Amino acid sequence: METQIEMARKAIITPQMTKVAEQEGLDAEWIRERVAEGRIVIPVNPNRQHQNIVGIGFGLRTKVNASIGTSSDIADSNLEIRKAQVAEEEKADTLMELSTGGNLDEVRRLVLENCSLPVGNVPLYQAFAEASRKYHNPGKLDSEHLFEIIEKQLADGISFMAIHCGINRYSIERLRNQGYRYGGLVSKGGTFMVSWMEYNNCENPLYEQFDRVCGLMKKYDSVLSLGNGIRAGAIHDSHDRAQMAEMVINCELAEIGRDMGCQMMVEGPGHVPLDEIEGNIMLEKRMSGGAPYYVLGPLPADSGAGYDHITAAIGAANSARHGADLICYITPAEHLALPNEEDVREGVRATRLAARIGDIAKYPERRELEKKVALSRRDTKWDEHFQLLMFPDKAQEIRKSRTPENQKTCTMCGDFCAMARGKEIFSGDMRGDKIAD
Ligand code: SF4
Repeated sequence: METQIEMARKAIITPQMTKVAEQEGLDAEWIRERVAEGRIVIPVNPNRQHQNIVGIGFGLRTKVNASIGTSSDIADSNLEIRKAQVAEEEKADTLMELSTGGNLDEVRRLVLENCSLPVGNVPLYQAFAEASRKYHNPGKLDSEHLFEIIEKQLADGISFMAIHCGINRYSIERLRNQGYRYGGLVSKGGTFMVSWMEYNNCENPLYEQFDRVCGLMKKYDSVLSLGNGIRAGAIHDSHDRAQMAEMVINCELAEIGRDMGCQMMVEGPGHVPLDEIEGNIMLEKRMSGGAPYYVLGPLPADSGAGYDHITAAIGAANSARHGADLICYITPAEHLALPNEEDVREGVRATRLAARIGDIAKYPERRELEKKVALSRRDTKWDEHFQLLMFPDKAQEIRKSRTPENQKTCTMCGDFCAMARGKEIFSGDMRGDKIAD
């Protein structure tokens, strides 16, 4: 089987490329060219029969990922199914199933069966969780088992995988030499891999045998997302030498993987102050040759726990504006607990809004919807207005809870509605597409 990138390079427009072109209102040949360059990826896995097609990358709408999954404390597969369904209902574009507790094969398969989003995961979680259960020491993981787990999960239908190939002896040495960190290590997969390398005094097998990882991903045409295992978990650690060492290696691996015919993405931080977001994205794009960038927010402050979906949304709007292609949501439970269904809903909504804000700045020519929203608001056409909003249910709920006497206005200004008065004054002056129906 040939991958999307291999077919694109043979000038073949696949049905998936055509679908992405339709969704985005772009030309299919243009999409093919970007896939051939590795600037757009399309997560597909022929072993998954019913899966939404989603394009991620340059020139496309910024996509939103929702992450779910059990933990060692809360392992309820039915809850994870419901969270996956909430993520889909709220229009997330992709889903990551990141379970580390309970029966991991069962949760993954149930989630794959019960939602239509492309599902990604982190195979290191299962490999190290199983080694922890078996030996009470993840360091005793047999590295061969890592590759077996990757293949098993791909065979189940996983369409993209975050794999921590870029952590190596060199990047760990940078961490030691810089005197560790203010915010420590925050990536579960990254920390597992660092502890395995320290325990075994070995190089990362996923780095040493990178061609083998790519071979497996190619076999299922799954996207390899180069994990950000040494991402900064505090703004004071942002762009430290350890993070940058991993980023350089990941960008180099993105090029190697692409040359092998594998669809590649690079993952990003983490915690980044607002003024460093643009630079972070510019570095990834430059060093990786334009590989799609998958960022976690980022969070531009460390002190907002409880409202970190908002903190991250501010970072996400900025990262989308400067070129991030896929944004992993952050929920209100971030840093505090495993997200529940309501956290998933709030996280997806906040991140979709952030991605929209970023896209309004990234693609000024695609602002037509905002104009329609403004006109319907100006003319107090409430029904039309609600149909155009991103979250009509929430907007209607608030309006209905405080019904105005005059149905044309709302209870904010009531008799003194500026919209109504302004229209009265200027109705004769409207021109062009500012004219009311
Ligand atoms: S009452 Fe005030 S807030 Fe409400 S629609 Fe009119 S101008 Fe807007």
